[in-house]
Amino acid sequence: MKIICIGRNYADHAKEMKSELPTEPIFFLKPDTALLKNGNPFFYPEFTKDLHYECELVVQIQKVGKNIAEKFAPKYYSKVTLGIDFTARDLQQNCKEKGLPWEIAKAFEHSAPISNKFIEISSLDFENLTFELYKNGEKVQTGHTSDMIFSIDKLIAYVSKFMTLKTGDLLFTGTPAGVGPVQIGDKLEGFLNEEMMFEFNIR
Ligand code: MG
Repeated sequence: MKIICIGRNYADHAKEMKSELPTEPIFFLKPDTALLKNGNPFFYPEFTKDLHYECELVVQIQKVGKNIAEKFAPKYYSKVTLGIDFTARDLQQNCKEKGLPWEIAKAFEHSAPISNKFIEISSLDFENLTFELYKNGEKVQTGHTSDMIFSIDKLIAYVSKFMTLKTGDLLFTGTPAGVGPVQIGDKLEGFLNEEMMFEFNIR
């Protein structure tokens, strides 16, 4: 399976990164080895000094498809969860300045912690979901699906123009404002509509 991550899908986050608003979705991939599950601790990598959390809504692809029309996109996902797109911000900044790919900053081991809970979208008011990230008990990010620049359906249509989506693929849908650094000893907790989705420690 592959992990597809969307960049700059919330205007307030694009603004805090001093990035322009995209006119088309931006995406990149993480390998399956990026996943970190079951509340296992994340070990701070030695190659960065500025590791940032980015809490994101994650959609699970449930059917193989390519060139999916936006109106048919809802047939390709039915479950949602919450995860973190860990980013080595110092390496990413260097890659951006040099026009290099982002993999060393984004696709490293365990850079995609994810909840074990997948929630049926049909049980939710999907257009009005709220998700939150707490660091050491303090709320640091709040996201609303209503603030996404590109809807899930648009993202699926766009990404599937370039690559086949397969059952079990995960789509990280972008982070809202409030991204920031973590340190060894920090605890991260994610909530979706006030339900706890994950908690783990940085070691
Ligand atoms: Mg992200």
